[in-house]
Amino acid sequence: MNLKLFFFAITAASAATPTADLLVELIRVDTSNPPGNEAKLDDLIAAKLKPLGFTVEIFPTPQAGKSHLIARLKGDGSMKPVLIASHADVVGVEREKWTVDPFAGIVKDGYVWGRGAIDFKGGVAVFAEAVMRLARNKIPLKRDVIFMVEADEEGMPLNTSWLAKSQWDKMDCEFALNEGGWIMKRPDGKVRYVSISTADKTSTSLVLTARGTSTHSSMPRPDQAIFHLAKALSKLADYETKPELTASTREFFLTLAKTSEPPMSTYFNNLVNSKDPALIAQADREISKDVLLHAIMRNTIAPVLLQAGFRSNVIPGSAEATINFRTIPGTTPEDLIAEMKRVISDPTVDIAAAKNNGGLSISSSKESTTNTDLYRALVASAGKVWPEAPVTPYLFQAGTDAAAWRTRGIPVYGIYPYPISNDDLSRMHGNDERVPIDSLEQGTDFVYRTLLQVAAK
Ligand SMILES: [Zn+2]
Repeated sequence: MNLKLFFFAITAASAATPTADLLVELIRVDTSNPPGNEAKLDDLIAAKLKPLGFTVEIFPTPQAGKSHLIARLKGDGSMKPVLIASHADVVGVEREKWTVDPFAGIVKDGYVWGRGAIDFKGGVAVFAEAVMRLARNKIPLKRDVIFMVEADEEGMPLNTSWLAKSQWDKMDCEFALNEGGWIMKRPDGKVRYVSISTADKTSTSLVLTARGTSTHSSMPRPDQAIFHLAKALSKLADYETKPELTASTREFFLTLAKTSEPPMSTYFNNLVNSKDPALIAQADREISKDVLLHAIMRNTIAPVLLQAGFRSNVIPGSAEATINFRTIPGTTPEDLIAEMKRVISDPTVDIAAAKNNGGLSISSSKESTTNTDLYRALVASAGKVWPEAPVTPYLFQAGTDAAAWRTRGIPVYGIYPYPISNDDLSRMHGNDERVPIDSLEQGTDFVYRTLLQVAAK
């Protein structure tokens, strides 16, 4: 063991709180996906849950080492189960850009550091600790509490929607809690707001294909495919979609209006309430300086792949760009293609759904209603743990496994159950990901209180 490793071993020894200690253990199991190797994490969690009386089932997938875990704490069956879902896999790392070992579970400066600290091993730890607390405290339950640890959430196919096709009876519930909204801190460390997602944006990709004549590069013709594609992309770069507010984003922005200083409070109010296009445009410009807020009020456009040409003396006959859109609920495929055709306005550029997109799979699932005992329990518990913070529904800016339930009409809510700062948030899927230890404990208290309210007799 070299000195550096010795130092890590000491600092990573114990985080001294149950949820943080569990998170350290989870981070040390490298579940970077691909390949994921989620089964190792399932075994670790199963070994903790079984002695506490949980029924634990592990569902293998066609890929070796990849499985889903469903644990159940039995109630008296008088009400339908409540389910809390978390994913075991994490995205990979750019190792050289981290200042700590991303898979060592380092504890320092009041944080647990490592890949998945926020997304979503922190959530696995909080949810696991909350359900284990129910079991340890022998709380009599009027409904089963189901805890899931899922595989392949990070954009891979053997995910929860895959599992639901064969195991829906194991996942069926009255309502569910999943990853999603944020508990955001102010610079002074106080919680500014608690946002609970009631819908997710949907990812869908279109391919732009520009066509021209394939010929010798010494005699260029006017119909060069790469130039046509470049012009189309340039038009998209200069184009901005209009703000489209859902019921939850309206409420979210009004919450921000209440918790902001002027002039931002005015911009938030104008975005929601103004009828003046100039004021709305000004509000959009100012609010959109925050990339997260920019994203949740509109369909976003991001070119992600380019493909053209095969040698330096041949003008290729076609050039392709894949554009990834994140759409708000209610956007139809027809709307999206029509809008892109209008913006690009070039008949030599075809616009079609990306092949690996499963066609244009824009989700038709609606926002989950907030009129449920689970949503009310989340609001009440947040009020106990963070009494100064307003609670608001939220449109999550990315996709999650919520689709498995929402498409079946089951209300599902999302939360990253720990207060974090903007700086912490920017590290998610990035470098030096970390989560505050005291936030993990607050989050465990929040989820435990929520489960008590919704499931205890
Ligand atoms: Zn996640």
